[in-house]
Formats: sequence, C-alpha cells, structure tokens
Amino acid sequence: MQTPFHQRPMLIDGELCAGTGGEWLASVDPATEEPLGSVPAADGADVRRAVDAASRAQPAWNALAMAQRAEHLRSLGRALGERADQILDLEVRDTGNTITKMRRDVASAIRTLDYFAGLGLEIKGETVPASPGNLHLTLREPYGVVGRIVPFNHPLMFAASRIAAPLMAGNAIVVKPPESSPLSASVLAEICRDVFPPGVVNLVTGLGPVAGDALVRHPAVKRIAFIGSVQTGLAIQRAAAETGVKHVTLELGGKNPMLVGPDVDPAEAAAAAVAGMNFAWQGQSCGSTSRVLVPESMYDEVLERIVAAVDALRLGDPRDPASEMGPMNSRAQLDKVVRYVAVGREDGAQLVAGGARPAQFERGFWHQPTVFAGVDMTMRIAREEVFGPVLCVLRYRDVDEAVAAANATRYGLTAAILTRDLDLALYWARRVQAGYVWVNGQSGHFAGTPFGGVKDSGTGREENLGELLSYTETKTLHLFAREPAWP
Ligand code: NAD
Repeated sequence: MQTPFHQRPMLIDGELCAGTGGEWLASVDPATEEPLGSVPAADGADVRRAVDAASRAQPAWNALAMAQRAEHLRSLGRALGERADQILDLEVRDTGNTITKMRRDVASAIRTLDYFAGLGLEIKGETVPASPGNLHLTLREPYGVVGRIVPFNHPLMFAASRIAAPLMAGNAIVVKPPESSPLSASVLAEICRDVFPPGVVNLVTGLGPVAGDALVRHPAVKRIAFIGSVQTGLAIQRAAAETGVKHVTLELGGKNPMLVGPDVDPAEAAAAAVAGMNFAWQGQSCGSTSRVLVPESMYDEVLERIVAAVDALRLGDPRDPASEMGPMNSRAQLDKVVRYVAVGREDGAQLVAGGARPAQFERGFWHQPTVFAGVDMTMRIAREEVFGPVLCVLRYRDVDEAVAAANATRYGLTAAILTRDLDLALYWARRVQAGYVWVNGQSGHFAGTPFGGVKDSGTGREENLGELLSYTETKTLHLFAREPAWP
C-alpha cells in the first residue's frame, strides 16, 4: 500500500530514482487541497543524466527490427491496460477531471501505441530518377534523442501516447511530465522500466523553466516536441534557437469557434455547444469550442438552452461517476478563471451562468461553469484562451460576419461547424482558420488524421503518419553505376 504522501520516483537509465538535488514537488488533490504525493524536482544534472542514458541506448534500440520495436510498444499498451484502474484512480484525483470520461484516456493511449506500432514499415525513403543509370535514393534516419514536454490536462495519455512515434522511428526519448498532476508519470515510469531496455525511455519530472528548459537546451536533443501554452511554446523556440539548430514542433492553445448554421435545431445547437466545451475536464482542453457563434434570429433561444444545460451540470467529486464537472486543476488555473470572469465583466459581456466559486465546497479549486452572452470580438474574453469552463456566446448577422469573428484571434487550432447545408459547411470549412475542423461534430480525435494548429496554435501535426516521419531526418544517397568488374 502506498502512504498518502508517497514519494514517487522518476525514470532515468532504467532506474526509478530521485533527483540528485534531493528536492521534491508536491501535488495536491484539487478537489480537497489534500496532499496526494510528490515527484522529484529534477534539475539540469538529472536532465543531462537522462539525455546521456538515452544517447547510449539509442543505437541498440534503432538496430532492432521494426517488429521488435512494435512489440515493445504493444507491451507498453498491455501493461497500461493491466494497470488501467490504478492509473484512472490516480489521474482523476491528481487532475480533478471526472472519472466517467477519463476512462477513455488509458484506452486512447493504448490505441495510439498500437497505431504507431503498426506503421513502422511506412518509414520509407524514395528512389528518384535524377540521372540515367544511377540510383538516387533517400533513407529516413532517427534524430537520436527526442525531448517531449507534456501538459497537465491529460498527463498520462499525452506522456504514454506521444512516445510512440519517436520510439517507432528509432529514437530514444526523454519525457518531461507536467509539474501540476505529475503523479501518473510514476506509474508510467515503473511500466517503462519493465518494458524497455534501460535508457530508451526516460521520464524526468520537475519544473518547466528548470527541467523542461534544460531538456530543450541540451545539445544532444535536436528534436523537441511540445504540447502546452503559446507562452511556453515561444520560450521553447527561443531557448532552442539560443542553443542549437533544432527541429521544434508545437501543439499549443486554442480559442476555438463553433459556427452554428441558421438551419440547426436550437436544442441540437445548445447540446453541441455544451459538449464542445469539455466541462468533464472543466474546459481545460485545447480543442474546447469556447466561442459559439449563433445567428441573430435564433440567438435568444439557443442561449437560453445553453444556460439551462450549463446550470444543470452536476459539480462534484471527480471520482463519482455521476459528476459532470470537477475542480480546476490547480490554484493557478482557478485564479486564471476568476481573473478572466472579471475581465469579461469589465469588457461589458453579460454574465448569464456561473461566474463564481460554488458555495458548497469549503476547500478545493472549484469554479462554476460559466457563460457570457453579448460577447463580441473586441473583448479579451472572446480573443484569449481561458483554458477553463468559460463559454462565450456571440451573435452574427451573415455567414461572412461569422467567419470574420471566427478568425479574429491569434489562435487556429480547432473549429466546429453545425449545419445540414452542404454549401454552407464547405463555405465555412474553407474559410475558417483552423488546423482541425469538425462538421456536425466536436471534440473527437481520430488516429491517422493530422491534428495540430495554424497561426499561434502551433506548428507541426500529430496523431498521423506525418508525426511518425517528423521524428526522422532524410539522408540522400547516390549510387553511381559503373561497369561491372569481371574476374
Ligand atoms: P504550460 O505551457 O504551462 O506547460 C506545459 C509543459 O511545459 C509542462 O510540462 C511545463 O512544465 C513545461 N514548461 C513550462 N515552462 C517551460 C520552459 N520554459 N521550458 C520548457 N518546458 C516548460 O501548459 P499547461 O498549463 O500545462 O497546459 C495548458 C496549455 O496546453 C493550454 O494552452 C492548452 O491549450 C495547451 N494544450 C494544447 C494541446 C494541443 O494538442 N494543441 C493539448 C493540450 C493542451
């Protein structure tokens, strides 16, 4: 049995270990503020140990047959499946995300591992008829050591699933889990120790500006893949550029629009708007459609239904299957939401649901699900990512005004379009600035289809063959034809 304030190690070079500095980072249950456990606060020396171990392990890992690498990924998936209940319990406590929908996270990680395990033989080069008689071809080779940095909203799912592509491509990896909700990384560390040769997978916990920064700056880490905020993405690009020529891909935030066509049933539109917000994790989802654009003619009716549905959401213990929304992930997240609610009011938006801390919880980082009406794109609440349970409802008069509003932010991650009018769906889908567009749907991800953002929402695509290939570099080989030398 684990003690309530268990110290959970990280994984470096096949060993579960503490940090050399001996510092620990505590994690609290966001529903109660009770301590849950702690992880090592790694420093630069720990990161260097991990990168050195990965550098040593990578050649042998890369020398394995594709089928052997695939078998390791599938073993990881199986081990995750065997410990799914334990991971779920820990993850729900540590993140505050509600249990019913969090059941998907381990399953999603296993599917992604399986998907990339099956793609190894797609790491193909080309032959190019560049000159007569000779052979011009390309090979795809791994970078060596890849650094992956992941956010707090789905820590296990991101850490486990996003190591699949770099490993399958023959890289060794150092993962930096989030400092908020880091505990599930320790279960992943135990599993990876048992599944992979030492050094192939390293999990180094700690603060972003310390451990994360050291990873980005390490000269042996040429390929960095990041999921998190725009602000940190920019810091990573700067740090990378200061220390080397590096390939950095960024999956960043969003202020995603949902465009409702005039033909849509108001009840359907309201249900989609609420579903698109991902209240099950308190709106803390990069893909949440936090701006709903509704035609003027049906605005009042859709708004009324959204407010009724949001007011009816059951806030409660995230471990209770009946709960539809839990606490914010951390005090910092809660403070951010409180700040943005004040900003919305100052901007002149109309608070029509929530907007306060719920009275029934004495402790914890709770906030009511919140709706602002009368929002327009001059307001910060409409342009900036809250990453919380705050939905803005905007009105539009014609289809072009809807597109202009949809595009009036620095972000361009996802967009949802609701309409049965195919012409309108195509008109909006072509014009909306987003990397991932759902028509008559929201929130879903589909393995094999590229996910990622345009504008400041990022650079690079994941969850598809392109992600796998992005962990390789091309080498061009010219074989010149000569007369055969006969004996
Ligand atoms: P964050 O940027 O604060 O932190 C993300 C990770 O970066 C953490 O592991 C953190 O420790 C690390 N980090 C922080 N500073 C660093 C630095 N200077 N150098 C290196 N690493 C550093 O983000 P967050 O609050 O954990 O997550 C929320 C953000 O993530 C939101 O903006 C959300 O939209 C975004 N997100 C994007 C996607 C996507 O796929 N596009 C998915 C989930 C979350």
